[in-house]
Amino acid sequence: MAKKSNGNGIDVKCSFCGKEPSYTDILVPSPLENTYICSDCVQQIEGLIKEYVNENAPAGRHAKKHDGQHDTDNAGNIPTPREICDFLNQYVIGQDDAKKYLSVAVYNHYKRLAQTSDDVDIEKSNIIMVGPTGTGKTLLAKTIARQLDVPFAIVDATVLTEAGYVGEDIESLLVRLLQASDYDVAKAERGIVFIDEIDKIARKGDNPSITRDVSGEGVQQGLLKLLEGSIVNVPPNGGRKHPEQKMIAVDTKNILFICGGAFDGIERKIAQRLNTNVVGFTGQETRSKVDKNNYLQYIAPQDLKSFGLIPEIIGRLPVLVHLDPLDRNALLKVLTEPKNAIIRQYEKLFAMDGVKLTFAPETLEFIVDKAIEYKLGARGLRTIVETIMIDPMFDTPSRKVKELTITREFAEEKVNKAYLG
Ligand code: ADP
Repeated sequence: MAKKSNGNGIDVKCSFCGKEPSYTDILVPSPLENTYICSDCVQQIEGLIKEYVNENAPAGRHAKKHDGQHDTDNAGNIPTPREICDFLNQYVIGQDDAKKYLSVAVYNHYKRLAQTSDDVDIEKSNIIMVGPTGTGKTLLAKTIARQLDVPFAIVDATVLTEAGYVGEDIESLLVRLLQASDYDVAKAERGIVFIDEIDKIARKGDNPSITRDVSGEGVQQGLLKLLEGSIVNVPPNGGRKHPEQKMIAVDTKNILFICGGAFDGIERKIAQRLNTNVVGFTGQETRSKVDKNNYLQYIAPQDLKSFGLIPEIIGRLPVLVHLDPLDRNALLKVLTEPKNAIIRQYEKLFAMDGVKLTFAPETLEFIVDKAIEYKLGARGLRTIVETIMIDPMFDTPSRKVKELTITREFAEEKVNKAYLG
């Protein structure tokens, strides 16, 4: 690029390292007079910049983005609640209330992280979702984590026990988060933990004096420590702690905890509170305002207390949302509408073999009816479709067909055979 002398009698060399043109591939001139930089220096500087940026950037900022994903490094870059909700709509059917509450809670959480001045301390907005199994609690939490590109871990509360008892220590739920963030502690400290089946660690009753049970209140006390925000020593490989083990200190102050549970039977507590009765009351004017088919929509923190969560835990889960049961119509949508709907996935699998797969509308209705009949809800849809599709998936790649339609008769035959068997 540059010659040995620049014509003014001044020797050309790299202004950074002094290397002459014969010692380097390229010498790039600057717009400033008699200033050059060699390709080696450019490479070194590039490396230094990358290192600096990686060390100083907030978690998630430089990771690869999926569609709809957002950076979460400052208030300006946080997706708005509406954007979060729009993203959720692509994957989750219904549950409009839950989507709205979750979107706002997550938005506020990240604003809290972006907060630089400490004049007003914005408190953490951990979330508790209550709804029947298979209605989308885990799906909602997973989808949010996917959009925000933060480490996300799912843990099951049923395996947690107080330290010293058989089972996993409370700290184990942070191990999962560390693993999800490749042991990048700073990244993990901004992550999301979804604690499933939180209802299973409820105290067996509302009276603390007679029910100090190991599986319930002790675990809740341990969990409280994490929810409140504290520095927790985590054994890096999980398992039980032992004295010689090297620990990783994780600050849970900024970790967003989302809890979910079916809380079977909580409708009765809600009904009692509403001064009604779940079964057999006669219609009267106050009662007519209450939708007896869906008591969960009236859930309030005191119902969680009646169910057996300690008040301190309830206080640390300020966002309480309910999920609606999925009716027939919603289940039909679950089959076909979400971006990664089950039917779309099968269509894609067959398209990869050059086969156009079609499910007749009556077939879809049959699948939903079976899921309802077997009380499998949304979780059962995939099992039923899998049962129907196993033979076509086995045979079609070796047959020269271009199109395949799954009729109701075919589906009925496969399902009835499988379930009767
Ligand atoms: P849970 O409420 O028990 O956590 P999940 O979120 O795990 O239920 O749902 C199980 C499966 O059912 C999901 O993977 C998804 O395929 C489907 N599903 C459940 N609810 C919905 C929904 N509202 N929209 C779309 N799919 C759903």
